[in-house]
Amino acid sequence: MIVLKTSRELAAMRAAGRISSRALRLAGEAVEPGVSTWEIDRMVRRYIEEQGAVPTFLGYGGFPASSCISVNNVVIHGIPSKKIILKQGDIVSIDIGATYEGFVGDNAWTFPCGDVSGEAQALMDATREALFEGIAAARAGNRIGDIGSAVQRYVEARGYSVVRSFVGHGVGAKMHEDPAVPNYGTPGRGVRLLPGMTIAIEPMINQGVKDVRVLPDEWTTVTTDGKLSAHFEHTVAVTPDGPVILTLPD
Ligand code: MG
Repeated sequence: MIVLKTSRELAAMRAAGRISSRALRLAGEAVEPGVSTWEIDRMVRRYIEEQGAVPTFLGYGGFPASSCISVNNVVIHGIPSKKIILKQGDIVSIDIGATYEGFVGDNAWTFPCGDVSGEAQALMDATREALFEGIAAARAGNRIGDIGSAVQRYVEARGYSVVRSFVGHGVGAKMHEDPAVPNYGTPGRGVRLLPGMTIAIEPMINQGVKDVRVLPDEWTTVTTDGKLSAHFEHTVAVTPDGPVILTLPD
């Protein structure tokens, strides 16, 4: 069931999105060689809790941390750890959710650790741009397939592949609501977008093959070919005036 939000609810979601976005910015600033992903997660948790919000991921389905931190060939759901020490050249995807006054803001960004290779930078640039292509397609009257095809077209033209087994989602009082928001699709197909819909658009884009597998910890999801993957996400509202990003710091 797709839940449409009132303007009052959208304002509450913007507040949750602001906290989530600021936590993500703080986490990104902490990315540097020698820092463990556990240290970054601890900062994220402290910041969110200081704002009177709750880290949405902590305990979600048993997830043990407040952020997912996914380095290089890890696509999503990397578990922060004292054993994972960032090094020069890594690309570090950080995904954070904050729940505030009953609503969730969900966002992710991939940060370079120091200087990264040209190939790694190009993958991050294409994935970020694909996110904004997808957001631009999130207009009332369009369909879900318009978002996915915009993302897919952008990255496949550059030789990258779209992860199929994980997708974006509706978001609101719960982190995962209907509809599913794939990063691939056919223009004009799928659920019609209506004002008041709030969705997390989150391209997960691989340098090599699209295939992924989940490690025995049941969370960490890696590329099967060991190549790099990038991930960018915003929570977006469909409004009569076009798409509005809810996960912004200001
Ligand atoms: Mg999400």
